[in-house]
Amino acid sequence: MNSVEGKIREKLPALQADIIEENLVVYPQNSEEVSSFIKLCNDEKISMVPIGSGSQIIGADKTKVYLSMRKMNRIVELAKADLTVSVEAGISIKELAEALREYNFLLPVSHHEKPNSTIGGLLARDAGGIEQYARGTIHDYLLGLEFITPTGELIKTGGKTVKNVTGYDFTRLFAKSWGTLGVIVKATFKLIPMPVEKALFITHGVSIDDLTQQMKEVLAKRYALVSFMGMSGKVLGLDEGLRYGGVFVLAGSRQAVTHQLQALKGLLDIKEIITGTDSVDDYLEDLLGSKASQAEIILGTDRRTLLDYLPRELDAILDNTSMDIVLDGGSGLVQLTTTNVQEVKKMLGERLQEFNFSFSDERSPVDILYNRIKRSLDPNRIMYPNNPRFVEVS
Ligand SMILES: Cc1cc2nc3c(=O)[nH]c(=O)nc-3n(C[C@H](O)[C@H](O)[C@H](O)COP(=O)(O)OP(=O)(O)OC[C@H]3O[C@@H](n4cnc5c(N)ncnc54)[C@H](O)[C@@H]3O)c2cc1C
Repeated sequence: MNSVEGKIREKLPALQADIIEENLVVYPQNSEEVSSFIKLCNDEKISMVPIGSGSQIIGADKTKVYLSMRKMNRIVELAKADLTVSVEAGISIKELAEALREYNFLLPVSHHEKPNSTIGGLLARDAGGIEQYARGTIHDYLLGLEFITPTGELIKTGGKTVKNVTGYDFTRLFAKSWGTLGVIVKATFKLIPMPVEKALFITHGVSIDDLTQQMKEVLAKRYALVSFMGMSGKVLGLDEGLRYGGVFVLAGSRQAVTHQLQALKGLLDIKEIITGTDSVDDYLEDLLGSKASQAEIILGTDRRTLLDYLPRELDAILDNTSMDIVLDGGSGLVQLTTTNVQEVKKMLGERLQEFNFSFSDERSPVDILYNRIKRSLDPNRIMYPNNPRFVEVS
């Protein structure tokens, strides 16, 4: 037992803790335990990282102490008349979606890509998901938050109503702080009624221009569209000559979905249609679940770039490398899976530069503000100090 582990076990004997690959992972069961643990870390200057399912922890290699929220995974209150839900931050997006489904409610952050992602992790990184085009990100549904600061205080912001901010918007500042300004222990969301019907359809494209043209045509008639993606034919399991496929999801009332599907059938050569909310969700989980965990390069861009410029650049790179591409029209994210990460990054760097893009880590005045806020809230720099997004700059 090393000295940090010894201190934690001695001072907080009831706190569940485990050693995993030489890291100490603690599992608090309630906000009081989170607070006592953080106070101890602050007093003893022990750096720690809050985690949910732990799928997106980068740059924490110097940290040996993790606070896992997975044991705090209850639904605290479902207010059916108000269409709100309060949950502990360690509940996974899939667990929550399944519980809400019983009442035909939805927190519209798709769970297909990474079903184990926790609400705390999704809030911390402002997740959107494949329905972002129509539904926005998780923060568009956030009403209130409870979190523990790096000095151990429990702070409550917002509430259960939509208009709640009377000063600085701490709810969003803390919720989006990537585990560096506090630990989210509880969150309250507004919900929407579950769409009655969903339909997913697939188009094929011989060239990248086919694909972007199809996407633009669907966008022009976007009535019930909630999601649209383009991907290399290989990801969809298409025949070799078919380089790309489009995946489009419609959701809403049965009438709206059927009506739009009919209209689009007249416009596009639709190859496959899946209907029914469960069948569509199952298909998406199969398609995207494995892809999301494999993607080695992720680029973010705006929709115009995604439809007008970027695809041709990616297509040119695809000629020279083996690479899978998933373009998500909703979030503007492009996921690339390749065995030649360095080579692809180099080619992208060169080609994107031409279009005034980069994977830049350049600093801006805003980053200096991040540091000031961090220093005033976390004077001992105990909370995720090595998060690469917020490393100290001067
Ligand atoms: C539908 C969907 C959409 C997504 N969209 C985006 C996107 O738009 N942008 C993006 O960057 N990623 C996106 N992602 C990836 C998403 O960020 C990760 O899936 C999610 O953060 C992982 O959850 P996790 O529980 O594994 O978090 P972890 O990997 O454990 O943690 C992720 C980050 O959150 C912090 N964190 C975790 N729990 C807490 C907590 N309780 N309090 C404070 N901080 C905490 C961690 O310190 C870390 O910085 C999306 C994922 C999904 C499923």
